[in-house]
Order: sequence, then structure tokens, then C-alpha cells
Amino acid sequence: MEYDAIIIGAGACGMMCAAQAGLLGKRTLVLERNSKPGAKILISGGGRCNYTNLYTGIENFVSENAHFLNSAFAQWTVDDTISFFEMYGQIKGKEKTLGQLFPESNKAKDVVAMFTRLMYETGQDLWLNSLVTDVSRLEDGYELTVERNNKQERLRAPKVVFASGGLPVAKLGASDFALKQAHKFGLAVVATAPALVPLSITGKNADWYASLSGNSVFARVWNERISFEENILFTHWGMSGPAILQISSYWRAGETMSVDLLPQFDLEVLIKKEREDGGKRTVGQLLNDYFTRKMVDALGEFLPIDIKIASLSKADAKLLCDTIHRFQVKPAGDKGYDKAEVMRGGVSTAELNPRTLESLKYPGLYFGGEAVDITGWLGGYNFQWAWAGGYMIAQDI
Ligand SMILES: Cc1cc2nc3c(=O)[nH]c(=O)nc-3n(C[C@H](O)[C@H](O)[C@H](O)COP(=O)(O)OP(=O)(O)OC[C@H]3O[C@@H](n4cnc5c(N)ncnc54)[C@H](O)[C@@H]3O)c2cc1C
Repeated sequence: MEYDAIIIGAGACGMMCAAQAGLLGKRTLVLERNSKPGAKILISGGGRCNYTNLYTGIENFVSENAHFLNSAFAQWTVDDTISFFEMYGQIKGKEKTLGQLFPESNKAKDVVAMFTRLMYETGQDLWLNSLVTDVSRLEDGYELTVERNNKQERLRAPKVVFASGGLPVAKLGASDFALKQAHKFGLAVVATAPALVPLSITGKNADWYASLSGNSVFARVWNERISFEENILFTHWGMSGPAILQISSYWRAGETMSVDLLPQFDLEVLIKKEREDGGKRTVGQLLNDYFTRKMVDALGEFLPIDIKIASLSKADAKLLCDTIHRFQVKPAGDKGYDKAEVMRGGVSTAELNPRTLESLKYPGLYFGGEAVDITGWLGGYNFQWAWAGGYMIAQDI
């Protein structure tokens, strides 16, 4: 037991935990199944890493108990992330949109380099190509079974940190390891599902969506739980884009959601104005002011786009406004874990001490990052949670 703790996973939470433990003079061993650390950080934000969000609050998270985060965000704030990145990585942030902070260099690899350097400089060990296959309890700590160099090894430590992430993107090393082990230890796990994920459309409407593939529209998308105003993107299999990814975390199979395709205008008012001006233009010409030609043509499949506005009946005007402002979408499903940015659900917060992320039932066992039932919106929130968790655990191990 030469380490204060063994950390499973060299991702966002695990590397932050090791680096912070190192700064406190502690010694950790990080075990990573991949041949390099931080695989998800490297591809995050399109390779630019949206590493935090200036407006992070508990309302930006999906969880059975988002209030659990109050303690985390009191201990590790967005300002702490910004200062940490500046101090240890010389990484200055620049805001792209909606509070989303990226490194000025636009290079996610600078973030991984900061962590590996800090872990090295503070004497933390990182073993790559090391797959943890089991964790079991001892009287004075835990034993890990590790597959490494085609051999099975057993390692012991007084404390173990599950920072092995969630299910999205298997080819980046994602696994259900933390969830399976939580089940084994008898800890409650909230049902998981892909989140921040594109949604597919099948059936009779599929061709209509496919015909619009590549078209993007600024829209408001909502259901009975939440509403988001950002772009939606039509694809040959359904819908994507930030507003769809956001609402996917709140969508349940079989549900219909509503889309306002023109949230910044009131079509009723626009039609009234056209009528006052003589109503000589067609509905299609009016819509062309706001949508691409392709979109107008596609809408023409169920809207009277060739009719002059002056001759538009009350019923048709209502159909037009309802369709544009309350477009109904019933996705067939989501595109699954390999297209998802995160996982919804995970180890229940009810099992963890909100101050330390230590298991309430098993002292010395910690869960952080995506493995826990805390899922952030799109926009840097998931990393903010992963850094906070890593920091909190490091204080306690
Ligand atoms: C395409 C994409 C883009 C994203 N972009 C952003 C973004 O810009 N901003 C943002 O905030 N979030 C983003 N996310 C989400 C973010 O990457 C995750 O929320 C975050 O990485 C979770 O951190 P973690 O440490 O819990 O897990 P991870 O970073 O996934 O790390 C877990 C590590 O554990 C390792 N591991 C798993 N099982 C074992 C095992 N049994 N033994 C040993 N090692 C194991 C894995 O290989 C992995 O390296 C993105 C996700 C994806 C998929």
C-alpha cells in the first residue's frame, strides 16, 4: 500500500484528482486502460475543449438531486477552474458563446499536457494500458485486479477512486465499469441513457427530414420539462444541433416535442403587416425572408406556400402559424452511446457524501465525474463538474 489512493481512469476527473492530490503532497497511482491519457478531453469541443462555462449553476444539470452539487460548486468554482488553467497550464480562456470557455490556443491537447506535467512534477504515477477488472474490499482498504502487459496483477490501496467515466463512445475507452462495481457493492444506480445525443426520425416523415439534411435553423425547442433556444440541424437520419442535443437529455422515448422555427418573430404579426401592404407576396416569398429556399420548399409539402397572402384564409393562416411556431417532432429514438456526449444517470448521489464524494457505506471508496448521476448541459458544464469532483476527492483521500 505505497499509495494514498489508486485512481481508476486518467480522464478529466481522475487527472484533476491526481494533480490536486499531488499539490497536497499525497501520492496516487492512476490506472488507465487506454494507451494515452485524456482521450475524451482531446476530442472535446471539436478538439478545442470547452473546459468550463462562466454561468455554471446547478440548474444546468440533470440529476435526481441536482442540489447535491451545491457543495461541489462552493468548494470548486468556475473562477477556480480559470485560475488553475492559467497558473498550471498557462492556458487563458476565451469565451465563444453563451459563457463557453475554450483555451485561447484552441488546442485540447494543451489541457491534457497540463495535467500530465502536473502529475509528473508532483510525483504521481500513471500506468497506461492498465485495465482494472475488479475492486474488492479488504479489512484495511481495497484490492484491485488489473490486466497489464498480458498479465493479471493485484494492487492494494487504502482508498480507491472511480473516475472511469460513463458509457458514451466505447472506442475512447468508455465502460460501464463504475456502474457494475457500484451494483456489486450494493450501491443504488440511477438508470442510465445517452444524453446530449442526436435524435433519429423514422417512418413516413423520415424522407422529409432527410430532404433538409445540412439545413440549420435557429429555433426554440421545448417539452413539458424544459426549453432551449439554439440552432437545430436537420440530418439524413433526423435531427441534431445544439438545441436538439440539449433537449435530448430531457426527452423520454415515445414523447413528442415542440419546435418554434421562428422564435424571434410572430408570424401572425408578419402576415398582418403583409396584408396591410396589399398582401401581394406569396406565403413562400414571406417565408423566404427567414428560411433557406430548401426549407421553404420542404415546408411547402404541408403549407400553402404559393397562395398570395391577401387570399390566405383564416384557417390557412392558423395552419401556417401553428406549423412554424409549434412544429411537432416525435423522434423514433436517440443515436445511442457512441454518438452521445454524456450519459444520463449513474451512481446515485444518495450514496455519496456531498462534501467528499466518498461512499456513505464504504469508507475509502469514491465516485466522481460522469460515473455519478450528475449530467451537465452542453457548453462546458460536464468538465466543470469533473474538475470539481476531482478536487473534492483529492482533499479527502
Ligand atoms: C465527443 C465529445 C465531446 C465532448 N465535449 C465536451 C466539452 O467540450 N465540454 C464538456 O464539458 N464536456 C464535453 N464532453 C463530455 C466530457 O468529455 C465528459 O463529461 C468528461 O470527460 C467526463 O470525465 P470523467 O473523468 O468522468 O470520464 P472520462 O473523461 O471519460 O475518463 C474516464 C477514463 O477512465 C478510463 N477507464 C474506463 N474504464 C476503465 C477501467 N476499467 N480501467 C482503467 N481505465 C478505465 C477511460 O479509458 C477514460 O480515459 C464531451 C464528450 C464527448 C464524447
